[in-house]
Amino acid sequence: MPLTGTDDPQAQAGADSKPAVPAPRRINPKMGALMDLTVLSVSNLTPRMKRIILTGEALATFEYRPGQELVLIMPAGQDEKVRRFYSIRRLNRTARTLELNVLVHGDAPGARWAAAVQPGDAVQAAGPHGRIAADPTADWHIFFSDEAGLPPMCAILESLPPTARATVFAEVAGPRDKLQNEAVAEVEVNWRFRGPMPAHESRLLPEAAAEYPLPAGRCHAYVMGETSVVREVRKTLRARGLEVAQVSSEGLWRPGRVGGHDHVTEAAQTP
Ligand SMILES: Cc1cc2nc3c(=O)[nH]c(=O)nc-3n(C[C@H](O)[C@H](O)[C@H](O)COP(=O)(O)OP(=O)(O)OC[C@H]3O[C@@H](n4cnc5c(N)ncnc54)[C@H](O)[C@@H]3O)c2cc1C
Repeated sequence: MPLTGTDDPQAQAGADSKPAVPAPRRINPKMGALMDLTVLSVSNLTPRMKRIILTGEALATFEYRPGQELVLIMPAGQDEKVRRFYSIRRLNRTARTLELNVLVHGDAPGARWAAAVQPGDAVQAAGPHGRIAADPTADWHIFFSDEAGLPPMCAILESLPPTARATVFAEVAGPRDKLQNEAVAEVEVNWRFRGPMPAHESRLLPEAAAEYPLPAGRCHAYVMGETSVVREVRKTLRARGLEVAQVSSEGLWRPGRVGGHDHVTEAAQTP
């Protein structure tokens, strides 16, 4: 069964033609060992965001940093499987459960999987992967996120201690798409509603990055969402004086991209 659609089509050229090893324990050295997981429950957090609880023996000893993600292997048609990234929202080692929040954004393998998955379904996953985590040296934290960035953003927010201060700019289509966090830190959440406009055409997050009066002290910014928006927010924050190391940014999706991710840094710019 071929394993395809793992990343940018350009970056993954040729992946479709490689035959997969039957019942693999490892996909490749970068992805790591596969965990066999089972869907325990599925519910709606918002009309478009599914809460999916997975369970499996491997979770008893699973380690991760809040903000990191799993790579899920999921069906895409009859004989094809693809890889998709989803952030770890919560882990309970004792109960051996792990929560994902998956956006049903349209007709694509990950979104279809989330819309149709049922308790008892099997899924394989590898991880953890990912570089973005809370900066413990920051005096305050500022987040910019669209719907796809809400799960990693909430995971990082919920990892901050009660003494931490955070400001959130979260852009979603409308009030029904708001996702609640359970942070113990002092968090100011500013929702922005784009309406029917496509997320990558909205300028609400770059505007917020340009206008927000930055408090005194050392801050750390976390920017997660559609790649072109993430890039613009990062550029704006850098122009306002934040250093390279003060901005963590990741392009979680972009129009036309299939799975994968875009590292948005000054060193590596992806189209
Ligand atoms: C590190 C990381 C962590 C992530 N964590 C989460 C998470 O916790 N929850 C979550 O829901 N997503 C998350 N994402 C985003 C998710 O992996 C992508 O949205 C992915 O493209 C979904 O796969 P798909 O098969 O549904 O769509 P794909 O087949 O990958 O994409 C097909 C097309 O759908 C459109 N599309 C894809 N994603 C979106 C979107 N979010 N909004 C609007 N249009 C879209 C694009 O036009 C794209 O070309 C994460 C991504 C990364 C890189």
